[in-house]
Amino acid sequence: MFFCDVTNYYGRLESVSSRLSMIDLLSEMLSKAEGAEIKPLVYFTQGVLAPSFEGIETGIADKTALAAIALATGFEIKDVESAFRKSGDAGKAAEELKLRARLRGMGRKEHSISTVFDSMKKIASISGQGSKDVKLRTLAGLLSNASPVEARYIIRFALGKLRLGLGDATILEALAKAKGGGRESKPVLERAYNLCSDLGKVADVLYSKGMKGIEAFEAEPFSPIRPELAERANTFEEIMERMGDSCFAESKYDGLRMQVHLDRKRKRVEIFSRNLERLTDMFPDIAKAALDETDAHSAIFEGEAISYDDSAGEFHSFQETIQRKRKHGVESAAEKFPLRLFAFDVMYLDGESYMDKGYAVRREALESMLKKRDVIRTTDRIVAKSAKDLERYFNAAISSGLEGIIAKEPGSKYIAGARKFSWIKMKRSYKAEMSDTVDLVVIGYFLGKGLRAEFGFGGMLAAAYNDKRDVFESITRIGTGFTEEQMSFFRSSLSKSSRKAMPARVESSIVPDVWVEPLHVVEVRADEITRSPMHMCGKEDYNDPDEQGYALRFPRIVSEGYRDKRAEDATTTKEIIEMFRLQKKKSLDDR
Ligand code: ATP
Repeated sequence: MFFCDVTNYYGRLESVSSRLSMIDLLSEMLSKAEGAEIKPLVYFTQGVLAPSFEGIETGIADKTALAAIALATGFEIKDVESAFRKSGDAGKAAEELKLRARLRGMGRKEHSISTVFDSMKKIASISGQGSKDVKLRTLAGLLSNASPVEARYIIRFALGKLRLGLGDATILEALAKAKGGGRESKPVLERAYNLCSDLGKVADVLYSKGMKGIEAFEAEPFSPIRPELAERANTFEEIMERMGDSCFAESKYDGLRMQVHLDRKRKRVEIFSRNLERLTDMFPDIAKAALDETDAHSAIFEGEAISYDDSAGEFHSFQETIQRKRKHGVESAAEKFPLRLFAFDVMYLDGESYMDKGYAVRREALESMLKKRDVIRTTDRIVAKSAKDLERYFNAAISSGLEGIIAKEPGSKYIAGARKFSWIKMKRSYKAEMSDTVDLVVIGYFLGKGLRAEFGFGGMLAAAYNDKRDVFESITRIGTGFTEEQMSFFRSSLSKSSRKAMPARVESSIVPDVWVEPLHVVEVRADEITRSPMHMCGKEDYNDPDEQGYALRFPRIVSEGYRDKRAEDATTTKEIIEMFRLQKKKSLDDR
């Protein structure tokens, strides 16, 4: 497939805002890919070189990109810089200068999607002394043979700023339409995606083996599984109603979730975070223990790692645990803050997927694969037969410094990438407040008056994620509670992803002073969830000004900066509606 066909679609995708038109265009483009081309095409369209857990980047900064444009077009660097300053978009600058350069008669050869992708991979792999110069020349080589429009996307991609506004869910739906027999097959594709977190791999299987290959797809070590998440409940009685006669109740540790993948023969271990980021190098102690303390030949298991003082038998705060998440001084931090991994699940063991087995069976397999119980232990748990059992266990967990408990249904399968009632969490609650915080996506900010004008920041507009529609729906305006440091931090970081108009996949009738790309997640606490026509969260029809959406009352920011989460992992509209339901039920019960 010619790269110019791809960029032609990108141009059209940028100019549509309706999700359905996006899916139509995207599936038309994807259906043109042949054989092995589909993988690079999907990754390129996502703006990545490999699934994000591999953490591969081109390593190109603005300065190198501008120098490559100068080299490829024959313009002086000051001309390139001035074109860049005009739009703030190096891709646009490349396009403009290529147009002018073409008038001077520079020739070109057709690129294919695979050659462009391979060159980008090559750029990423260049390292060591003088690598900056080699990267620059390789990029300039690509640009010299590119058309002006191709140059726009080559530069944006190289800088990690392709941003076509396409979420994973939208790409999956387009793949279903292109090769899966129709959009109805999206859930089957989604299941495969949840098992490997790699859209390129899913697309490759779909194109080479068809839907039969997708249906037979299973998890395997070293492709992280999208984690199962917990639902909320108000009362212990409600938990028991959902669980049946009995359930497991486990301590909820406030640490770092880790998914450990191991293959003993290859002596290979990888650790992934809840957001599927590769953490292995930061936690050599856990990686070593995975081989030393288990007898599994191959496995994928999960647990919560927390800083723990063995001699005092005390759990340390989340702040201490998080000190271990660093790139430098790993060894000394490991000594200062020793971690224990409290394992709670196993999804794959000795060549076999355990995801469809019941939780009780998985837990038994986990217990028997752990031979030593030093660094890796299992979570504390009981079998609860009544609400009273749960309450007693919850009170004991809180008094030993834990966050709360999680109830789990003994017969339930592992549900990858979903929040379902087979896990229900109960955390310490705070009076007169929502019993849990929410994680919202920033979609815009206000410039502010008075003192706030000095910082150019007067609050933010935030959204919940509607995973059914793959859009970010406005839910609240957060105007108070920011420290001066936070105001300048949010202003300077958000302005880097500002947009002139409402970004694709955002729905809001409130117009902030500055729109921003939906990328950053903040943790927010509020007094309660209310109904309001002003916000889009939960509305059926975004154009109906009278329909009631959901909003937050007295919202304030809890996180210092941003949460380590992707925008698509923010609190969903469905969760907000569920929290609203619980809140209503609680106020009736309290009367
Ligand atoms: P929170 O901010 O409450 O941790 P979350 O959105 O990160 O919320 P939840 O679905 O609410 O995740 O709660 C599940 C999280 O609790 C898991 O991701 C895991 O990190 C943590 N956890 C602690 N102890 C356990 C346990 N025994 N079983 C499962 N998860 C546990």
